[in-house]
Amino acid sequence: MAPASCALCPRLCRADRAAGATGICGADDTLRVARAALHMWEEPPISGEAGSGTIFFSGCSLKCVFCQNHEISTGNFGLKIEPERLVQIMLELQDQGALNINLVTATHYAHLLPWAIGRAREEGLSIPIVYNTSGYELERAVRDLGDLVDVWLTDYKYASPDLAAKLSNVRDYPDVARRGLAQMCREIRRRGGIEYDEHGTMLQGMIVRHLVLPGHADDSCRVLDAVWDVAGDVPISVMNQYTPNEGMRVAGGNLARAVTDEEYEHVLDHADDLGFTTLFWQEGGTVDESFTPAFDTTGVLRAADA
Ligand code: SF4
Repeated sequence: MAPASCALCPRLCRADRAAGATGICGADDTLRVARAALHMWEEPPISGEAGSGTIFFSGCSLKCVFCQNHEISTGNFGLKIEPERLVQIMLELQDQGALNINLVTATHYAHLLPWAIGRAREEGLSIPIVYNTSGYELERAVRDLGDLVDVWLTDYKYASPDLAAKLSNVRDYPDVARRGLAQMCREIRRRGGIEYDEHGTMLQGMIVRHLVLPGHADDSCRVLDAVWDVAGDVPISVMNQYTPNEGMRVAGGNLARAVTDEEYEHVLDHADDLGFTTLFWQEGGTVDESFTPAFDTTGVLRAADA
């Protein structure tokens, strides 16, 4: 059942979701999913050759002005399903050969995860659970999921509170992300550290992601400083796939363009200088269809109901 005074994320907006009210994230008392399918373009330890079983949840507690998935994050696009269907979806993705179950932006549905993951495990789910998050997570939320989540695939978006306030409307993002990351590190250490299988697929651990924003390479370097300070030499993914959406193109300024090679190299050099030994980086520039799959409700309904 949805919380009556929701405090699942750092917004702490206290929406009475149990009574059908909608929180800042767009979630109410229903469960909505926009897509559930294999995805080949996560980092190699996540997607491997076979693909990651991604489940894109509707809604998001951040409101990033440059979001590439705005139809589902702010538009709340998706189909309403019952929690039992979420269990079936996980098992179907495993049957399709997924290396893991990749829960994309599930923060506002965290109340359902213990039951859904537990039930799926009882019914034969044996692959890792990846928790794919904006990084805007409460420490206690991370702790509560510590035994359920095998791999934390977490963004670390900003070092500057001003930038976080301007672009995602959350001034406390840097502080929250820092605490959340520290808790993720504690959870993984408690479970014995990072583990891979013989093919290099991550079975347990974390990857910290950072999207470089045009005109903000210096903030990216401060993000890397923070990650190094909190987590040390963790696998890190520095991305240059920023692509201006319609709103950003109209607004003009730095965020109306792509990241330059010089900006990206500046950030990658800084990651090297800090000492990160597992660094994922991108050869392409702006985003293409493969990075943003069609949110067409693939895999959300039972085949018989679709
Ligand atoms: S998860 Fe949604 S409803 Fe709950 S506190 Fe966060 S924004 Fe509010």
